Amino acid sequence: MNCLPLKMDLHVHTCYSYDATTTLREVVVYAKKRGLDGVAITDHDTVEGALKLAQKSNLLIVPCVEVTTQRGHVLALNVTTPIPPGLSLFETIQRIHEVGGIAVAAHPTAVYKGGLRRQIIPSFDAVEVINSKTFPFFLSTYLGRKVAIRLNLPQTAGSDAHHASEIGLAYTLIEADPDIDEIIRAIKRGAAVPVGKPITWKTRLQNAMSSLKRRRM
Ligand SMILES: [Zn+2]
Ligand SMILES: [Zn+2]
Repeated sequence: MNCLPLKMDLHVHTCYSYDATTTLREVVVYAKKRGLDGVAITDHDTVEGALKLAQKSNLLIVPCVEVTTQRGHVLALNVTTPIPPGLSLFETIQRIHEVGGIAVAAHPTAVYKGGLRRQIIPSFDAVEVINSKTFPFFLSTYLGRKVAIRLNLPQTAGSDAHHASEIGLAYTLIEADPDIDEIIRAIKRGAAVPVGKPITWKTRLQNAMSSLKRRRM
């Protein structure tokens, strides 16, 4: 066991997501710059970038996918095959478990309209309580923590970086050896502490402008 916990940003997008710009090389450069031991590559509905990076990087890369469900986003951690988008939350979580992954409720207070219903509660493995992109950040974090505590689920954090400079703004400290299976087991048993801050107002504004431009194209 390491003396120090691993510092992992558990929510990072690359240019394999339709709405992100970060190249695989930039992920490595910025992760090192921010002192991270590794990242979870969580592109929207694809694992292509994650698998490519895992092959050629000496960072810890957790292959993941951010799955678009009928009721919000689910982070499928430790999956090497994409989970089909558009399914119900329940079925999505089931599929994630079938392929050996764990299901994390992504930015739950921002997306899960109507809250997390009782019947799907036992299926999640963790709740992302800190996500640098949520707005308003401090209220979302407070509510996210409340959800996790109420459901008695482990807590994670990630930047949800769509641009390289956002990588590492939030991260999870994980008590585990530097091995992907160990990391996943540690998250599941709650040996994980979420840490993080929001993206700056300047970045928020730039992101809003570029998403407007994308919509007009
Ligand atoms: Zn999302
Ligand atoms: Zn995301």
